[in-house]
Amino acid sequence: MSKVIELKGIKKIYKTGDEDTIALNGIDLSIEEGEFVAIMGPSGSGKSTLMHILGLLDKPSTGDYMLDGQNISKLSVSKQSAVRNQQIGFVFQQFNLLPRTTVLDNVLLPTIYGKPRNNVNAIKLIEDVGLGDRIHHKSNQLSGGQIQRVAIARALIMDPSIILADEPTGNLDTKRSKEILELFRKINKAGATVVLITHEEEIATYADRTIRLRDGQIVTKEEISA
Ligand code: ADP
Ligand code: MG
Repeated sequence: MSKVIELKGIKKIYKTGDEDTIALNGIDLSIEEGEFVAIMGPSGSGKSTLMHILGLLDKPSTGDYMLDGQNISKLSVSKQSAVRNQQIGFVFQQFNLLPRTTVLDNVLLPTIYGKPRNNVNAIKLIEDVGLGDRIHHKSNQLSGGQIQRVAIARALIMDPSIILADEPTGNLDTKRSKEILELFRKINKAGATVVLITHEEEIATYADRTIRLRDGQIVTKEEISA
């Protein structure tokens, strides 16, 4: 196994007015290729900030980020966005599907900004996430669970090696949550590295490993409840 992600001494400080918020306070973390990692921690502990840094949507204040052995912090902004578009698929809690646009066109959206590493058949992908009978439905004609599935298919259309998901089941009931998690597990079994933020212990049992954050630091399970 090789390390796909390696963070060393990552800090993120937000300056708002004259108050500084230390959102991440020295994160060291390695993730192996093909791992399924859950990130847990109370609200405000830095989970989303960590995910944004992993996804090259935000820069750390200090520290190094090695992605596939390459020091990503040293790349230009345009090289970083090329890496992001090619290698990373995002699923957020607030899925922003294009309104009044078909499932197919929503899934194809990322391909406007770049060529996939490997050609992925959009129809097959939509079938794989269980929406084969909704391909030409518009986004406003779908249920919450179906919207999440579209978002997942869209995250996969560029054939990314890493999937980052921030509370992807946050708005769903238990049954729908389980289905979405099964889907992530399937994606992971097919080879992708999955990093998923959740606040539900039960969800974390789907993962190979759970990383817990508190006050911007990685802690053990015992420490979090202390
Ligand atoms: P979580 O996702 O675990 O709830 P976040 O990563 O969103 O936590 O936030 C961590 C801390 O950083 C919080 O104290 C939050 O208020 C602060 N924070 C997050 N984003 C910003 C921002 N853009 N500007 C200022 N402070 C922020
Ligand atoms: Mg968050």
